[in-house]
Amino acid sequence: MNVRTPIVLCLSGHDPSGGAGIHADIESVGAQGAHALSIITALTVQDSRNVLQVQAVPAEFLDEQIRLLEQDCDIASVKIGLLGDTSQIEVIGAMLRRLRVPVVLDPVLRAGGGTELADDALRAALLGQLLPQLSLITPNAAEARRLVPQAATLPECAAALLAHGCPNVLITGGDEAGASVINTWFVADAAAQRYEWPRLPETFHGAGCTLASAITARLALGDSMHLAIERGQRWTQTTLARAIAVGRGRRIPLRH
Ligand code: PLP
Repeated sequence: MNVRTPIVLCLSGHDPSGGAGIHADIESVGAQGAHALSIITALTVQDSRNVLQVQAVPAEFLDEQIRLLEQDCDIASVKIGLLGDTSQIEVIGAMLRRLRVPVVLDPVLRAGGGTELADDALRAALLGQLLPQLSLITPNAAEARRLVPQAATLPECAAALLAHGCPNVLITGGDEAGASVINTWFVADAAAQRYEWPRLPETFHGAGCTLASAITARLALGDSMHLAIERGQRWTQTTLARAIAVGRGRRIPLRH
């Protein structure tokens, strides 16, 4: 086994602006001292402001990529971001049943610029087929509400996600109002843990991907969930504090 540099399998969309998606994953995983295998679920047309188009990679092609790497590499953890369509969920679900390693899903449902990135069928497949196989899901507040529209509060959203079989739910608050950013980690049978971070003056593109992939790498490196969530947030905050403007839209985290 590769003890020094653990391998993280990342399945994410490609964002040509370099702020979110697979760019964020590769850079974040590398910065933690792990190595990213990169499988691209979808190509996008986007800039630092918004996503204009998404083109899913055929699920059979993902399956070929996954199976080849599975045979070649000792995968220590898996990070899942943007999903192209429901047939990809079947392929990824089957992979998770074979691999049995920590899995983090950052549910990418809507771009920061407003474009919808998941329809009802995709959300239903994600809840029914993927959630029970995850170690952690990291929705922002808006994504948590969209995953569980019947819930009245964020703790109720988290309770429903836990009830679907995902043992850890981290709801991030970067997209909420307020002087600080409140992230809350929910588990089934214990009190929720609240983290408070100073709200930085800018808005960011790719913050969620950065956090989720840093946590996934920390898990591959052997951190407990508690430590991975703490270290992932602290590191992400430093990347946001140093964020750069690559275009005329939101800033992107500086991850190197
Ligand atoms: N494009 C891809 C490929 C993504 O993975 C994501 C988010 O995770 C986005 C766009 C949207 O990022 P943001 O909401 O930070 O703009």
